[in-house]
Parts: sequence; structure tokens; C-alpha cells
Amino acid sequence: MAASLIDGKATSQKLRERIATAVARLKQDHGVTPGLAVVLVGEDPASQIYVKNKARQTLEAGMASFEHRLSAAITEAELLSLIAKLNADPAVHGILVQLPLPAHIGEKAVIESISPGKDVDGFHPENVGRVATGEGGVVPCTPLGSLMLIKQALGDITGKNAVVIGRSNIVGKPMAQLLLAHHCTVTIAHSRTRDIASVARTADILVAAVGRPEMVKGDWIKPGACVIDVGINRVEKEDGQGHKVVGDVAFSEASDVAGYITPVPGGAGPMTIACLLANTYLSTCRTVGVPPVDIF
Ligand code: NDP
Repeated sequence: MAASLIDGKATSQKLRERIATAVARLKQDHGVTPGLAVVLVGEDPASQIYVKNKARQTLEAGMASFEHRLSAAITEAELLSLIAKLNADPAVHGILVQLPLPAHIGEKAVIESISPGKDVDGFHPENVGRVATGEGGVVPCTPLGSLMLIKQALGDITGKNAVVIGRSNIVGKPMAQLLLAHHCTVTIAHSRTRDIASVARTADILVAAVGRPEMVKGDWIKPGACVIDVGINRVEKEDGQGHKVVGDVAFSEASDVAGYITPVPGGAGPMTIACLLANTYLSTCRTVGVPPVDIF
């Protein structure tokens, strides 16, 4: 293996420690405890694990955690009414509605009902617009965490060629915006891209956010490139004995070619929750009018 491993677990741990210190100071100096409300609709097992981890890490950072677990049978109107209450609750500084939602509830209506100031996921159109135009705005957690890992590996990324595979609103598009804001030359590849392997080979920075197990092969990677694997795919083990989690990058062959690479698990994944806490801290500071300390 030629590539250096980018350790998202260790980096996220350090970020969470800095957030906990900043939160303690906010409480001591201003008597304010950041509060994060997480809303889970239905019984999706993966979502239940995410929500449990989010609540635990929120408390560990010294913040208040408000969990709302709702039946999959809840109506859209009932969910919107809960969000309106959370929008008005001064103890709540961040609201996260765990996606995906059951099919009868409109994701767009729910995202747009969250007050942009409490939208710690950065999915509200106002925040999307602000990030795109460089006017502040809440940056979505997974791209924010991935950018931290890239900068940790490479330092200044001005002028680098970056290729993002995937164009979702949650990962691909905001990732591309962030890389652009950091002066990279950015290409977004997707399911209609022609000769995607050749496009990927132009990348000094390659971010894979596709949801296809080990799609990105070793010969798609420019020697020395920084590879960020956002994918989380549950696949059957080779011996048929249970399941394992793999990324969108064929890790073993890619790490022979790349200069830096994130593992799955332990790369981009742990950064996502840490950045959610960071966004909640920043949102609290904005709400109470206190300048945030530099947690990044
Ligand atoms: P989406 O399904 O919303 O988007 C996937 C994107 O990949 C689409 O833009 C799609 O293109 C593109 N794509 C699909 N198949 C191909 C292909 N064969 N070749 C090229 N592009 C393709 O997924 P998300 O962005 O939400 O998530 C992507 C991955 O990241 C998933 O594995 C998810 O689990 C993981 N994830 C991890 C997080 C973390 O915390 N680490 C957080 C969020 C997601 P098109 O638009 O043309 O259909």
C-alpha cells in the first residue's frame, strides 16, 4: 500500500473535543447550552443507529439532545406541526430530520419548513443558495467533513483538479461547491458521464459519493491523488457469513496508486456527525449573538 491513510476517526475525535471545549465556554460565559433536536420517522434500522449515535455524541459534547421518534404512520401535517414547535423553541438551536422519510411525506416540504437558522444539515434552499454564492450559509455535514480531511492531507488545494463522482443535493453538489470555493478546478461526474474512468484519472482530488460498492477501481486513480470515499454500502461477505460495509472505492487496489485515501469505515463517516455538532455550535452562537471560537 503506497497511500497514506486519512484517519477520519481520529480527526473527528479531535474536532469533537474542540467543540466540547467551545460549548463549555459558551455555557460558562453566556449561560447558553446548545440544543440539537433530531426527528426520526419510522423504524428504518440504519436511521435508528445514526440517530442513537448522534444523540450520544451530542450529549458527550455538552449539548442538550432532544429526540423525537415518530411512527411511520404520522401525517405530513403532524410532522410539520412538530417542526414549527421546534422552530419556536428557544432551547433548540439545531433541527435535523433524519432522511429518508416515508413515501407519503414530502421531503421538500419538510426541509423547507425548518427555519434556515436552525437547519444544521444545510439542506434548506436558503442555505444552499448562500453556500453557492459564497454568502455564508450552513454547509452540509458530509462535504464539510470531507473538505477538512482533504485539507488535512494536502494543505492548500488552490488550482488542484477535483473530480466529484455523484451529484446529490446532500453530498455531490455541495462538495463540488466547497472545492470550487477553495479554488479547485472542479468536475462533477454522474451516471450519464462518458468514460468516467478517464475523467476520474484527471483528479488530484477524487471524491466518490455514489452508493455503488467498490465502483472506483485502482486504474481510475491518478498516481498520488487524494481519494475521499464517502460511500457506505452494506454487502455480503465473500464467505457468505454475514455482512460488511464497503465504500465506493476498491480500497485495496486504489491504495496502491493514491497518495492519500480514506478507509471505510473510519474515513468520511465519523466526520459527518462531528460536523453536525460543529454546525449546531455555530448556529447557537449566531442565535445568541456570540462570536464563535475557531473550532476547525
Ligand atoms: P444518491 O443516490 O442521492 O446519489 C448518488 C449519485 O451517484 C447520483 O448523482 C448518481 O448519478 C451517481 N451515480 C449512481 N450510479 C452511478 C454510476 N454507475 N456512475 C456514476 N455515477 C453514478 O446518494 P448520496 O449522494 O446520498 O450518497 C452517496 C453515497 O454516500 C451512499 O453510499 C451513501 O450511503 C453515502 N453517504 C455517506 C454519508 C456519510 O456520512 N459518510 C452521508 C451521506 C451519504 P445521477 O444523478 O446521474 O443519478
